[in-house]
Order: sequence, then structure tokens, then C-alpha cells
Amino acid sequence: MAGILYIVPTPIGNLGDITLRAIEVLKSADTILAEDTRTSGKLLRHFEITTAVRSYHMHNEHRITTDLAARMEAGETMALISDAGTPGISDPGFLLVRECLRLGVRVECLPGPTALIPALVESGFPTDRFVFEGFLPPKKGRQKRLQALREEQRTMIFYESPHKLLKTMEQLQEIFGSDRQISVSRELSKLYAETIRGTLLTVKEHFEKHAPKGEFVLVVRGAGS
Ligand code: SAM
Repeated sequence: MAGILYIVPTPIGNLGDITLRAIEVLKSADTILAEDTRTSGKLLRHFEITTAVRSYHMHNEHRITTDLAARMEAGETMALISDAGTPGISDPGFLLVRECLRLGVRVECLPGPTALIPALVESGFPTDRFVFEGFLPPKKGRQKRLQALREEQRTMIFYESPHKLLKTMEQLQEIFGSDRQISVSRELSKLYAETIRGTLLTVKEHFEKHAPKGEFVLVVRGAGS
């Protein structure tokens, strides 16, 4: 019998956001694959999960994916977690899922925490159709990516780090114009969670006055929506 690869979402802030099923799966797996064993160690200790942990991150995934998938094909069950949220969403996961499917290993992603969905829903912009753009390319290709979104009608979601937030908002303003609506959610599910809504101009002014700190999701209203 082949094993299973479980993709297990973990809290993006509040530990209470973990699901009962996530805890069960993490306890019963043969091995937990963690992006950062130290970060996940805190979570696992908190929920008294004693399963063996092995690291799986962007620097070793290319080297070890084939071997891990073969072990699952031979019967082991593994649970992949990242530092926060859903693995595979701007986090390692895609390569392992693809390799498991190639070998006929069952893959199951548990529903659970991820930053993009609460940010989208809190924005108040249309949720029936949206595009997740993840992180913009750091330098090369950034302008091209944004240009391609100039006429996008669906709600757009971006992840961004605090030190690039103002620069990114400036670039968004150049492409979409100052009046385009944006909603910026920071520190979702944490103590200082807040969502700031307005135009690209007013929200940028807000963050010029209040230095960006923490984790951010930017949600931009689609053209003419
Ligand atoms: N796998 C995660 C998910 O499912 O959302 C995303 C991991 S990615 C490396 C980290 C980025 O996600 C952050 O830079 C930020 O854009 C976003 N993020 C994660 N947690 C967040 C939070 N609590 N509040 C706002 N944004 C968050």
C-alpha cells in the first residue's frame, strides 16, 4: 500500500487557528517535513506532537524530493508543513506534490490557514473572481509583471515584505493610477491585525506616516470592477 502526502496548513498568527484534523494528521504521520524545524518545533511542542521531523525547504527540495516521494510510494505517510499558512502557497510544496502524483502517491491538502483568503474577503472587493500574484519578482521582470496586469478586471492579491511595501505601492500607483482602490491587511489573526482601505494614494500616505511593520497582503480592485 502506498503512503500518503498530507499538506498541512499551520497558523499564520494565532495558534488557535490550527484545525483538529491538522493536529491528528501531524500526530499520526510517519514523518513531518518542515520548512524550518526550529520554527515548527515550537508549534509541535505546543500541541504535544512528537512525530519525527525532517527539514524540507527551498535549499534542499530539489535534492531530496525524489527520495521522499519514493519513500511514500513504498508506504510511508508524510505531512508537509511550512513556517506559516498553507505549504505550496509562496512556500515549498509544489515540487513534492508533482513528484508524488507522478508516482501515483495520494496527495491530500487539508483546508486551513492561508493569508490570501482573509485579506481578500476583508477587502470588500469582488470575491467571485480573483488572481493571486504572490510575491512580485524582486527586480528583473517586476515592471513587466505589473504591466501585464494593467487591464486586469479581477481582484488582484499580492504578498509583500514590510521593507518593500512603499516602493511596491508607488509602482502600483504608476501602473493603476492614484485613484485605484486598495486594501492592505497586516498581521492577520495576530494581536495588531488591521486592514487599511482606500485609494493607492491615501493608503500609501497612511504607510508614509505609520512605518510598515509585520506581514502584509495587498489586495487591489480590478479595472472597472
Ligand atoms: N504559505 C503562506 C500562506 O499560505 O499564506 C505564505 C507564506 S509567504 C513566505 C509569507 C507571506 O505571506 C508574508 O510576506 C505575507 O505577505 C503573507 N502573510 C503570511 N502571514 C501573514 C499574516 N499573518 N498577515 C498578513 N500577511 C501574512
